Amino acid sequence: MSKHRGQPSRASERTSEWRYLLGTPLETFTAFCAEHDLPAYRARQVYEWVFRKGAEGFEAMTNLAKPLRTLLAEHWTIYASTIAQRQESTDGTIKLLLQWADGATSECVLIPDEKRRTACISSQVGCPVGCTFCASGIGGLQRQLAPSEIVEQAMRVRQLCDDAHPLSNVVLMGLGEPLANYGSVLAAVRIVNAEAGLNIGARKITISTVGLPSQIRRLAREGLQVNLAISLHAPNDALRKQLIPWAKNVSIEDLVAAGRDFFDTTGREVTLEYILLAGVNDQLDHAHQLTKICRRMRCNVNLIRYNPVADLGYQRPESFAAHTFAEELRSRGVNVHVRKSRGLDIDAACGQLRRKSADVSTKGVSIPRIAR
Ligand code: SF4
Repeated sequence: MSKHRGQPSRASERTSEWRYLLGTPLETFTAFCAEHDLPAYRARQVYEWVFRKGAEGFEAMTNLAKPLRTLLAEHWTIYASTIAQRQESTDGTIKLLLQWADGATSECVLIPDEKRRTACISSQVGCPVGCTFCASGIGGLQRQLAPSEIVEQAMRVRQLCDDAHPLSNVVLMGLGEPLANYGSVLAAVRIVNAEAGLNIGARKITISTVGLPSQIRRLAREGLQVNLAISLHAPNDALRKQLIPWAKNVSIEDLVAAGRDFFDTTGREVTLEYILLAGVNDQLDHAHQLTKICRRMRCNVNLIRYNPVADLGYQRPESFAAHTFAEELRSRGVNVHVRKSRGLDIDAACGQLRRKSADVSTKGVSIPRIAR
């Protein structure tokens, strides 16, 4: 089992009570304040400083007495990462490589699109899924990300936004399989969604999964109105197993059943993500097969043209091929969008920046999973 950067494992770096504020619900922090004879409004003040005013340290909290700021700094940390790299695309996409105290790195991306500002964040260090077209699977899973580390990525991306265009959406489409780090992801999503936290509406939060049916059903019953995106990438099991080896025990039939359950329970339509790989999954016959899947569940389809990088094992289809594929679906009643590729002039596909930084050996290529 992978190591979790949970609080106990990092505790020895400071004190046994070292905690990470960005991953802590207000209620828990309020309880800490009560233990130290501090009124509840103090907790709210601290959260306002952190989540509303963007304070990075306790020293900035000028309406708190100096001894209180010292007490908080002894017990809590706010930001735990350093920004190891920053890349900016001509289309405005900005990618950050965050480094944690143990040397692990995480990628997060700001995707500007008209008024919308989306943070694409990671759920794990590395990825256990091993899609054959993706750099993130190379090297496998290193460790889980803690709730604070997941929230911190969204906060780091939020720092890149301005008042005229605040952060509006958060998508867990970066490195890792979110539903394989279920507890941390849900804890982080609740803080991203909380009024005292980032205050991003649940309908503006998307969890993207390769498809773990039992966890999809569990997610549906969390009482959250988050969006679910399933990375399908192939319209039949044989091809899907080639592209997503980790999915060999999960049939498309199982995913359809879980997707239907998600819709029946939440009323939220599922998004099917489909990376178009030239000559692999972008033929008309594939479109016909995909249509049959779409007829069996309430869903819409995001088509994303594959982002080419060095050492290609797969090719990016031409634009007209993507639109022909989309038209074929549309003509059969499927709600389909062809997503823009973003950050083509930087390493904006997931895993590329981290791979280059860590010098992870190359056996495949990366894809853009930043789709909404
Ligand atoms: S495409 Fe997603 S699920 Fe597949 S290896 Fe890459 S990060 Fe993991």
